Amino acid sequence: MYGPAPYFYPPIAHGRKPRHWAHARVATCLQPRPFTHPHMLNLVLFGPPGAGKGTQSQNLIDRYGLRHISTGDLLRSEIAEGTTLGQEAKKLMDAGILVPDAVVIGMVENQVKANLSGRGFIFDGFPRTVAQAEALDEMLAKYGTSITVMVALQVDHDTLVQRLLLRGQTSGRPDDQNQDLIERRVVEYRDKTAPVAAFYAGTGRFQEVPGVGEISAIFEGICQKIDAVLAQ
Ligand code: AMP
Repeated sequence: MYGPAPYFYPPIAHGRKPRHWAHARVATCLQPRPFTHPHMLNLVLFGPPGAGKGTQSQNLIDRYGLRHISTGDLLRSEIAEGTTLGQEAKKLMDAGILVPDAVVIGMVENQVKANLSGRGFIFDGFPRTVAQAEALDEMLAKYGTSITVMVALQVDHDTLVQRLLLRGQTSGRPDDQNQDLIERRVVEYRDKTAPVAAFYAGTGRFQEVPGVGEISAIFEGICQKIDAVLAQ
């Protein structure tokens, strides 16, 4: 279990003028400090559509006490609520095309801001472009934290397609319904998302795990990578 984060924030002094030098010294110690969260565990769970990110996210949330941020789920909530954003996003999602970076980055920041007191985040389906990865790094730095590690699930193409077609029988997701659409999403992944792995590898925060086999064995593989990073 990832233990409780040792958060400790000093009290903050708010804009009072010190009356003499002794107060001035105290006031300097109590200057507002940047709000930092260096002990958070922030994971990016990475892989093509059908790699098992959603399934493994649930297990990881239970083990590490993380907050789940799935941009696909957030977009589907917008669609269900019938918002303008949802209506615009639906056209692209149903065609297997990524929605614009600014849309998902804004949604993710709202979630991050609202949940900074937790143990950390698991990002599922985000970042999906290098621009999103850069924005995420910048955003987390602003809140005094960072991505701990990206774990990529490796699954071969035929298995992905089979899994998504099977999921389509029960998920009700329009984008799981036919092979052409699934192939379109895999092409989006290859062209726009796969380069995100190199972005994290370049900063030493990238780990790979086989994503085919027993769900529990895949989960243990992911945990081993995370625990190894935490032990460093
Ligand atoms: P998912 O549930 O992660 O498979 O996402 C379903 C669809 O939502 C994708 O095919 C995209 O159209 C859209 N989507 C989800 N996350 C993102 C993202 N980070 N960037 C752009 N589009 C996204």
